[in-house]
Amino acid sequence: MAELDKIRDSNEEYSHNFKYGTLPITPARKLAVLACMDARLNVNEALGLETGDAHIIRNAGGIATDDAIRSLIISHELLGTQEFVVINHTDCGMLTFADKDLQKDLRQKYKSDASEIKFYSFPNLEENVKNQVNKIKSTPFLPPDIPVHGFIYDVKTGKIERIAGDQKTINEILIPSSSP
Ligand SMILES: [Zn+2]
Repeated sequence: MAELDKIRDSNEEYSHNFKYGTLPITPARKLAVLACMDARLNVNEALGLETGDAHIIRNAGGIATDDAIRSLIISHELLGTQEFVVINHTDCGMLTFADKDLQKDLRQKYKSDASEIKFYSFPNLEENVKNQVNKIKSTPFLPPDIPVHGFIYDVKTGKIERIAGDQKTINEILIPSSSP
């Protein structure tokens, strides 16, 4: 069966039992997740999130591009999220090439200059997560104290390991301290 038919059939079934029609626009868990697009990483399942719980922003590498930051600003400012999570994963395709090589291959294949396309390939997973967390933290249009956590997801075990970010949790942000 062609993929188009498969997704139509699946959606027919999905809409038949649909139970999310009354969810509010604001994410219930006040979370926004920036993750790599890797097909093996199911963000909702891995983090125990349900439909309506969180914004999930995905791109190749889980990179805090201008566009990802645009989404985070909208997520926080207009839709009330209070905590951000960045997730990269082991065996990421972004570790396997260099921007300049892909740019060169594209130019040869399509006879068009690809040197302006930034692919954000990276050689070190942990460093990449830290860089994205720092980039989000340094954005002037997000509160400096918003918690941003960096994780690596292991595609072999399904486990996440926290490797960057603030110790502060959402509870410390939302529940005022007992001092008068
Ligand atoms: Zn990846």
